[in-house]
Amino acid sequence: MNDFIDKRKKMLEAFKKEYRNRTNEGEMRDIPKDMFVKCEECNELLLVEDVEKNLWVCPKCGFHFRISARLRLKALDSNNTFVEMNQELSSVNPLDFPQYLEKVEKYQTITQEKEAVITGTMMLGNIPIAIGIMDSFFMMGSMGSVVGEKITRLIEKATMMRLPLIIFCASGGARMQEGMFSLMQMAKTTMALTRHDASGLLSIMVLTHPTTGGVAASFATLGDIIIAEHGALIGFAGPRVIEQTIHETLPQDFQKAEFLLEKGFVDIVTTRRELLSLLIKCCSYHEVAHE
Ligand SMILES: [Zn+2]
Repeated sequence: MNDFIDKRKKMLEAFKKEYRNRTNEGEMRDIPKDMFVKCEECNELLLVEDVEKNLWVCPKCGFHFRISARLRLKALDSNNTFVEMNQELSSVNPLDFPQYLEKVEKYQTITQEKEAVITGTMMLGNIPIAIGIMDSFFMMGSMGSVVGEKITRLIEKATMMRLPLIIFCASGGARMQEGMFSLMQMAKTTMALTRHDASGLLSIMVLTHPTTGGVAASFATLGDIIIAEHGALIGFAGPRVIEQTIHETLPQDFQKAEFLLEKGFVDIVTTRRELLSLLIKCCSYHEVAHE
């Protein structure tokens, strides 16, 4: 085993050396893309296998890579209890926005998902829950009619079945190509969540990188418990837009999860590794409260 680890270490070192040389020469053609990944934070070149085992968190600096909705689900649902709802719902083009459906189709091919959120019910430990997971790789997790509708139906199901609700948010905001139809989803999801809340049920929002725009300004920040993943960017408009509007320089960590915790905007900041046990703990307190 140690031999194997040594061998892999040597291989990585040799590759890094070669990588540096190649970078200097501007020749990157032969690098096996699927084997290595560069950390966006510390620039360390990492073996994909190692990062995968670490739930896509950089083993060197703790940077959280963005991950797909399915990968997140896999990490939460090792017993395969997830029953998906409305997976066939797919966008139409209500405003005849040029090339919109082509773009949707392109992202359907890339992500193998029909839309930017997956929803359903599952067992979290031994607690039944309703869960929605947004996928930032599908048009930056933007919320159009389908995303809004799937989330609304999920919340309604949770209310009807008296289930705690967990939504993993990841979004660039409302989907521009559907204009006002996208903005209407903010009100729709909020109303459904209000009814869930009025029924005395628990909702937990997990804000992952990035949670912005119309999603941040609606259901994402309306949970009973708001958890943010380490390093996530959370806000309405981006820092550049704000700086240009107010003509002031913003603090360095502005809109980052840790900064927002300090300001009371989120309740808990956690790492991906600790997330599952934290969610189980939050839901089990709720179960106790109901007895
Ligand atoms: Zn790193």
